[in-house]
Amino acid sequence: MARLRAPGRDDWMTTYEQCGTDVHGMVERLVLDHHEDLRDANVTFALLFAHADVDDDGEPKGPALVLRGHACAAIARIVNLKDRAKGVPDAEIVIDGDAWDERTPGEQKAVLDHELTHFRVRKDGEVPLRDDLKRPLLRMRLHDVELGWFAEVAQRHQEASLEVIQAQAIVTRHGQTCFPFLGLGDGESGGESKGAHRDRVRRAAAAKAATPVEESAG
Ligand SMILES: [Zn+2]
Repeated sequence: MARLRAPGRDDWMTTYEQCGTDVHGMVERLVLDHHEDLRDANVTFALLFAHADVDDDGEPKGPALVLRGHACAAIARIVNLKDRAKGVPDAEIVIDGDAWDERTPGEQKAVLDHELTHFRVRKDGEVPLRDDLKRPLLRMRLHDVELGWFAEVAQRHQEASLEVIQAQAIVTRHGQTCFPFLGLGDGESGGESKGAHRDRVRRAAAAKAATPVEESAG
């Protein structure tokens, strides 16, 4: 277990420990089932739990993991050549260990699958590129959608706000596949007027322009 002072927070530390074989097993299964490139390149993973310091009552003093100022469930990182040379695996996933046991097995799998999806194997055509240690070179895939949401702006400007436009675009583009619990069927837009349809298409196009569908070369 290791301790590291949390950036910008002088009064408490974050604690790290290695995940057990259960989490490694889940990652292995997900890679086999859904991440062919990671499997074929034999990418190895360091898996860590982060824990926040606790106060005198045993309550966490804050979130265990923070990314760009927001608490988050896990953070993915490509391990650099120097650390790989020390024997560290190719890619690292740090998980909020305080929240982990609160999640259902399905939620745990979804968190890990999300982080695995951030890793892309760099290739020359079909051939995976490798570093001097013959380990696979990786790059980070950015999210398809980044949603920055101010509820008060969405409330004040409603359909004119980027918040609502983006949310509508997500439902329009991914509604049937990602939100079946909303009951969006094929016939959903059947009764839509021409004007409403035109507005919807316009909003989706605007959201597409405002929402980079990222594929980072970095
Ligand atoms: Zn992510």
